[in-house]
Amino acid sequence: MKYDRNSLKAEEFINDEEINDTVRYANEHKDDLELIDKILEKAKKRKGLDHRDASVLLACTDASRIRKIYDLAEQIKKDFYGNRIVLFAPLYLSNYCVNGCLYCPYHIKNKNIPRKKLTQEEVAKEVIALQDMGHKRLAIEAGEDPVNNPIEYILECIDTIYSIRHKNGAIRRVNVNIAATTVDDYRKLKDAGIGTYILFQETYNKTEYERLHPTGPKHDYAWHTEAMDRAMDGGIDDVGIGVLFGLDNYSYEFAGLLMHAEHLEAVHGVGPHTISVPRVKRADDIDPDDFDNSLDDEMFCRIAACIRIAVPYTGMIISTRETPEVREKIIRLGVSQISGGSRTSVGGYCEEERPHDTEQFDVSDNRTLDEVVNWLMRAGYIPSFCTACYREGRTGDRFMELCKSGQIQNCCHPNALMTLKEFLLDYASEDTVRLGDEVIEREIGNIPSSKVQDIVRDRLTRIVEGDRDFRF
Ligand code: SAM
Repeated sequence: MKYDRNSLKAEEFINDEEINDTVRYANEHKDDLELIDKILEKAKKRKGLDHRDASVLLACTDASRIRKIYDLAEQIKKDFYGNRIVLFAPLYLSNYCVNGCLYCPYHIKNKNIPRKKLTQEEVAKEVIALQDMGHKRLAIEAGEDPVNNPIEYILECIDTIYSIRHKNGAIRRVNVNIAATTVDDYRKLKDAGIGTYILFQETYNKTEYERLHPTGPKHDYAWHTEAMDRAMDGGIDDVGIGVLFGLDNYSYEFAGLLMHAEHLEAVHGVGPHTISVPRVKRADDIDPDDFDNSLDDEMFCRIAACIRIAVPYTGMIISTRETPEVREKIIRLGVSQISGGSRTSVGGYCEEERPHDTEQFDVSDNRTLDEVVNWLMRAGYIPSFCTACYREGRTGDRFMELCKSGQIQNCCHPNALMTLKEFLLDYASEDTVRLGDEVIEREIGNIPSSKVQDIVRDRLTRIVEGDRDFRF
């Protein structure tokens, strides 16, 4: 197999030999300060780095250069994403699954956990609970089971989710995290109005991948790895990739992740919309210590910083798998989206207490959405419930154009402020309202165009009067 990022064959665009060479090259040059400085200079142009250069930065051991990597990542994040953090929540539809994934409690052999699949009435109840928290953006999650969770079921759930209007609530963007499927199914998802199609590679290492997925359709490495190409062929141009860190060696995964991004850019003209960085967590019959590639918080944060530098236009997502402390650190280094108030069980949002029986993994940030919003603002961020881009047709390369044109500050910034105002009026606690109004007042001044500032002030007044869903 020869490395070819333009190839449509998994083992050619995610090429084992190329990854091993890259990791070797990075290790050989980890103390080569001249090369590292050259790469940092290249990175400062904010055009990204290829997997080789980025892998050298990740391997670097010099403390002052590591500081520079962090500083640059922070700067790039500020330049491209400002201080906005977009919020979302996962919604688990069904934990029926026919796969045998060794790290996931939904694996077919697990007889401890009850199997549950939401009816449309239950979906509606969950959505109402999520709307009452203030969520506008969901990521739906389901195990792979052609009988219990066929595409028709997923489509029906999406319809239900979009149809619920409770008080001032609405789910305005549904992202979808379901198993690899056919071009036809991806087209159906596109037609249903989904935002991003998300699929984690879990591990890019084929041998490990096959060992970790011993049975079920997910065992097929090529089918899984080529899924994003099929999704794009089906018309979905916002795709989200990710690795489940802890399964295999992080240097290998890092190179694979960037090669995947380079492949999508080369073949489809647009890279991934988001990159997620989940780590393996404790769950029903899953012990993260059984996987010997766990990485410490320091290296985890460095991976995020290097991703930020390597693909400046790609959003980065951190979930509630991480503690508030790690989230705070990693957000600064490049994360643009986080989940908040999450329940990872089927039907979990309707329960008073966080239920554990059908949970996919243990949540380490158990704060409410209001607490997360409050915390973000205290840390200097603008919590954003914006869903404007895909609703305005700014997906794929059109979204990338917005990033590159520098107009993001005249567009995303006002959208963040207006959606934050909606949250304050409809869902926030007293303290969050007070803090939020100060943030909005201060941040209006950071909108470059004075004309846009005037429009925002007018719309904020109208939001107070009861109007909703303004967007640029
Ligand atoms: N079933 C779908 C598939 O095959 O891709 C995806 C949905 S699954 C609900 C979402 C993701 O959760 C998986 O892709 C995996 O990376 C992650 N996950 C599974 N078990 C986990 C664990 N024990 N700790 C952390 N994340 C886990």
